Amino acid sequence: MTSNAAILAIDQGTTNSRAIIFDCTGTPISVAQRELTQHFPQDGWVEHDALDILADTLQVCQTAIDTAISQGYDIQCAGITNQRETTIIWNRDTGIPIHNAIVWQDRRTAEICQSLQDQGHEQLVRDRSGLLLDPYFSASKVSWILDHVDGARGAADRGELAFGTVDSWLLWNLTGGNHRTDASNASRTALFNIHTQEWDDDLLALFNVPRSILPDVLDNCADFGTTNQFGFDLPICGMAGDQQAATFGQACFHPGMLKSTYGTGCFALLNTGDKAVQSTNRLLSTTAWRLDGHVTYALEGSIFIAGAAIQWLRDEMGLIKTAPDSETVASDLTDNGGVYLVPAFTGLGAPWWDPDARGAIYGLTRNTGAAHITRAALESAAYQTRDLLEAMDGDWPGGVTELRVDGGMSDNNWLMQFLANITGARISRPLNTETTALGAAYLAGLQHGIWASLDDIASAWESHQVFEPNMAEPDREALLLGWDQAVQRTLTRVRTH
Ligand code: ADP
Repeated sequence: MTSNAAILAIDQGTTNSRAIIFDCTGTPISVAQRELTQHFPQDGWVEHDALDILADTLQVCQTAIDTAISQGYDIQCAGITNQRETTIIWNRDTGIPIHNAIVWQDRRTAEICQSLQDQGHEQLVRDRSGLLLDPYFSASKVSWILDHVDGARGAADRGELAFGTVDSWLLWNLTGGNHRTDASNASRTALFNIHTQEWDDDLLALFNVPRSILPDVLDNCADFGTTNQFGFDLPICGMAGDQQAATFGQACFHPGMLKSTYGTGCFALLNTGDKAVQSTNRLLSTTAWRLDGHVTYALEGSIFIAGAAIQWLRDEMGLIKTAPDSETVASDLTDNGGVYLVPAFTGLGAPWWDPDARGAIYGLTRNTGAAHITRAALESAAYQTRDLLEAMDGDWPGGVTELRVDGGMSDNNWLMQFLANITGARISRPLNTETTALGAAYLAGLQHGIWASLDDIASAWESHQVFEPNMAEPDREALLLGWDQAVQRTLTRVRTH
């Protein structure tokens, strides 16, 4: 492979559309990004304009490509990674979406999901898709669009409409009509059977979704099609949902390896190898990736509020000026002063599952200052991770010994050391924390022959900084006791799992 070989990674996220060009060592050489406009038509509804998603993506790709080409790089292939579950339906003839994209965060189908749950259908969804009956996933959003756009059901039955998550939508437009997705994105729709790796007739019937609108499902490394949108022929040969791409970008290729992304919230994915684990703790079971028809599964857990608590300190409370300031503030204190912040701003996720819980701060005294509250907000990300790991351990005993971290909050060294102390695990942070885009580049480069094998990629992955646990056990236990008591006081219902 020539040393000027490069790969385009398209990273279409919830808040930003980005294009990053990587060289054949996995080093980013050019980046362009645009913020995506969010639409909130009603309480609990979140939409994107699918044409904005497309226009922004094309523009950032062109900018990043032009920069790389001007530096003498030869862009040989492209990979796509994307916000997952977000649902788009478009007309196959005109290519025009029949409704705005309904974003994964959108709760408009809560009632549909609740009623299916009341009718006892959740077990079917869990057994086949590995997911839960929740508006988060695409299935109920597809159904909602077909039921609420005039004439949509008839058009779908006549084969005139196409459904896709953002990967499919971009691919369709980049390639002039290839209607395809990949096994990781398909596994987030709640219409796909993760065991047989096929669209599932019973799930399609449950959500009243016609087969005619579905894309073909390919491996994550595959020939998805060629785009000539950027002035030359560029094969698209890698694709994965964002969290799966990050897991790939962190080279978590073996069972027991886990990556944890600390952004607004926190998403942890544990590689469970060729076993799709049925969680007893309401974690999700999902396709990590499918290579040469061989599936690797993951257990996934999410924490709703991680970095968002730091944003809240900065924007609503005015306790810090910038997010990175939280690091000095926390490390200047000798201890947490007995203060605990439970950031249940939007309820608590795994393993507590209490949507009605709300945030609280405990342990206030006359000595408590702004610094204690800031430190408590950082600490809460570590405690929540430990709770998630405990839930994972219940489903997949074996114990996680290392967390590969990324996301904006992982820049905080104080927090990473505290995370090591509280979880008892080694925390490894790579030099390049753009792991989502890197994962898409790795998938494309693997298919195109830039990397020969997973081993080849794994040896390119480099931990830049490691944080080892160094807290005395009684201190750790005292802190965990304080956290557990704070959570118990915050819950509105008895723990359900
Ligand atoms: P997202 O992809 O979800 O938008 P990012 O990965 O860009 O998130 O991370 C941004 C989040 O990380 C913000 O919520 C911010 O408050 C938090 N953050 C960024 N830097 C730090 C830091 N040094 N310490 C603590 N939190 C941080």
